[in-house]
Amino acid sequence: MTISGTAVAGDRKLKTVSLTIDGLKVEVPEGTTVLEASVKAGIYIPTLCYHPDLEPYGGCRLCVVEIKQMRGLPTACTTPATEGMVVTTESPAINEIRRASLEMILSTHPCECLVCHRRDRCGPNDICLRSVAVDDRCVTCPSNQDCELQKVVDYLGVHELHIPRDTTPRDIDNSNPFFDFDHNRCILCARCVRTCQEITCVGAIDMANRGYNAKIAAFNDLPLFDSICRSCGECMVRCPTGALNPKEVIRSDKEVKTTCGYCGVGCSMYLGVKNGKIVGVRGDPEGPANQGRLCVKGRFGIAEFVNHQERLNMPLIRKDDKLVEASWEEALSLVAEKLGKYRGEEIAVISSAKSTNEDNYVMQKLARAVLGTNNVDHCARL
Ligand code: SF4
Ligand code: SF4
Ligand code: SF4
Ligand code: SF4
Repeated sequence: MTISGTAVAGDRKLKTVSLTIDGLKVEVPEGTTVLEASVKAGIYIPTLCYHPDLEPYGGCRLCVVEIKQMRGLPTACTTPATEGMVVTTESPAINEIRRASLEMILSTHPCECLVCHRRDRCGPNDICLRSVAVDDRCVTCPSNQDCELQKVVDYLGVHELHIPRDTTPRDIDNSNPFFDFDHNRCILCARCVRTCQEITCVGAIDMANRGYNAKIAAFNDLPLFDSICRSCGECMVRCPTGALNPKEVIRSDKEVKTTCGYCGVGCSMYLGVKNGKIVGVRGDPEGPANQGRLCVKGRFGIAEFVNHQERLNMPLIRKDDKLVEASWEEALSLVAEKLGKYRGEEIAVISSAKSTNEDNYVMQKLARAVLGTNNVDHCARL
């Protein structure tokens, strides 16, 4: 069976390379890594520091593979696929190295649940079936059952640790108004650091210290809120564990695609909805303006005002000096009747920068083509 890579970009033909992964012939564009080629072929290789939006890093050492005529076990995420390469992604030797790397990651991580043989029977927030005194566990973590570390531990079947653990409690930075940073759950994969440098281009955080004292920190170890962090949450969405998590985590029932109404960039996003309320926001990776990214306003500012109890969701008509709720039909008829008393340039139309480009376009069209006025503006100058 052969898996072919995309060989054409626009009119330009890309050079491709052909390699064999676990006996499967795979053809991919030149420059593709062995890990990306494996993903394309549907072959799973465990990894925790890799993220498709970020540059290869090779930090967690979990994606090691065997490559014919290459020494040692190279990391698949940093090795470019080359013509004729023969890759093996699974063997007892490979998995032994992966388990050793994973044990080092777990040596500073709350892992009672991870290595517990009863974990499958525990739902989120269950009382521990072994001991109520155990607080070093997944069921108290907002990422429980949605955690990449859990998946990797399950895949590699790590059920005991052979190296000393350091369970000294670490800081929880809850200074940011939108998300918390629990250093106890951090596995130092550096996805957040790289996101802040490569995607957000802020560089608010970096790796500090060494060994068991290594941590992710802002300059001078300041709380995030006092640092140059812009609270965009891009690091949070790429964190593979429960280290970076929104203040409140509510799982949605469905998602609705929309466009952010906060500014004219027009970022595309999915709103997570539960019981008719917005409970989460996710950037749309296909969005042409944002490619999945959002700023602090789009990510954290939507739900509060949309769900706000004082938000107007019915038109109000002033009657006897009092604003009274009315139907849309009644309100629009009243506006049409009042506008009918004026002609052309006597009318001005004010739209909103918080509306989409398309809505603003329709509004100026109504003004010019229907109402006959060029007096059009929107709130950006107000
Ligand atoms: S981050 Fe993952 S593995 Fe760690 S406590 Fe939370 S759910 Fe468990
Ligand atoms: S906070 Fe999350 S993304 Fe950052 S290093 Fe820790 S685990 Fe990785
Ligand atoms: S929230 Fe944004 S600016 Fe702040 S650390 Fe994360 S990626 Fe950087
Ligand atoms: S997410 Fe931020 S940049 Fe994007 S449209 Fe909304 S306010 Fe503008």
